[in-house]
Amino acid sequence: MRKALIAGGGIAGMAAALALAREDWTVTLCEAAPAPGEVGAGLQMSPNAAKVLRWLGVLDRVLAGASVPEAAELRDGLTGAKVYRAALGKTAEARWGAPYLHVHRADLLAALTDAAREAGAEIRGGARVESYVIRPEGPALKLEDGSSLSGDLVIGADGIRSALRAQINGAEAPDFTGQVAWRGTIPADRLPDGLVERNATVWAGPGRHLVTYYLRGGKAVNFVAVEEREGWVEESWSAEGNPQDIRSTFAGWHERVTGLVERIEECFLWGLFTRPEQVRWVDGPVVLIGDAAHPMLPFMAQGAAMALEDVAVLVRELQSGEPLAEATLAHESRRWPRVARVQAQSLSNSRLFHQPPGLRRRLRWGAMSALTNIAPGVAAGQLDWLYDFDATAGL
Ligand SMILES: Cc1cc2nc3c(=O)[nH]c(=O)nc-3n(C[C@H](O)[C@H](O)[C@H](O)COP(=O)(O)OP(=O)(O)OC[C@H]3O[C@@H](n4cnc5c(N)ncnc54)[C@H](O)[C@@H]3O)c2cc1C
Repeated sequence: MRKALIAGGGIAGMAAALALAREDWTVTLCEAAPAPGEVGAGLQMSPNAAKVLRWLGVLDRVLAGASVPEAAELRDGLTGAKVYRAALGKTAEARWGAPYLHVHRADLLAALTDAAREAGAEIRGGARVESYVIRPEGPALKLEDGSSLSGDLVIGADGIRSALRAQINGAEAPDFTGQVAWRGTIPADRLPDGLVERNATVWAGPGRHLVTYYLRGGKAVNFVAVEEREGWVEESWSAEGNPQDIRSTFAGWHERVTGLVERIEECFLWGLFTRPEQVRWVDGPVVLIGDAAHPMLPFMAQGAAMALEDVAVLVRELQSGEPLAEATLAHESRRWPRVARVQAQSLSNSRLFHQPPGLRRRLRWGAMSALTNIAPGVAAGQLDWLYDFDATAGL
């Protein structure tokens, strides 16, 4: 039986552990954290991601605790005017072949972890990977506690500050994008009825935006608030945020925005960074997936979705029977163009959302609004290239 060693137990690593265990690989996953400890945060899972969850056999489990939005909307954060709308719910499922859902990250991770264990994967917590070595008999992982593990394939799924990416590409300095994101959840029973619609809504305005949607069948509301800033001074990648800062940032905005932010009691703050895109994801039988390979800004809500797609594409290449070092290279060349397009679109969305008032914004938002009103199917069709994609086709 071939043996896979996985560094990192986030969405990418856990999905890879599950997929390979189901393909009869012997799998050992090493996660640095002793136990899952992610702050409360939601994830939008678009149909392209839901197709991978279905193939992994966990979609029903995930759906049981998820929320399904009625539409995706872009609104003017100050006036509340609708700029763009795409119907989701049943329409999304019919158009793109799988549901669009909102899920708590902890719930998604728990579903993947349980299923990976049931499929026979060994999941080790408190196991920080330091590096890999490639020996004639195959690759091995070296752990912080001095032990090592050997196998046939190494998957680096160790996230945005990946040790394995640094080993393949050398140390790289992340660039602060000038944007920070607060993230958190509010129990829905703390909000007035009807304040938050059953949609994924982006409230956009000059230099900032707020995203809201429901989680856990409507029991909680997730928010992501983004602001452009001069500098990032925190030492940690994410830190506890001050709800008062969010209130000041959105003071004077539409009453649905202020009504929500005034009820935030706790939040976390992320600095948003980019890293060089021209990097290698592969070193022989060692391959990076998820944020370790291609970190991206969150403005398309696609980071975890791309991590899930990576897993399906990698499994297909591993099934080809080619030597592992060729399968990993084939994976890299198949994934590169799509991921680069999503990265570019995420960057351009931050400009779309944060555009200051003026002629350029009137023209751009006006065109989107007209298309939404006159031809909603054409407006939704702008997302076909992204959501229609089925990474599991042929598996
Ligand atoms: C504000 C914000 C909103 C977002 N919203 C969405 C969204 O709506 N939809 C979406 O699809 N994506 C979204 N994303 C992106 C998404 O969260 C990430 O792309 C996704 O979590 C990446 O998964 P990953 O497994 O690659 O990395 P991670 O989730 O970072 O997991 C990496 C894991 O590796 C572990 N690790 C790190 N170093 C080591 C080591 N040396 N040894 C062992 N283990 C190690 C870590 O502890 C961690 O568990 C958002 C991101 C942000 C910041």
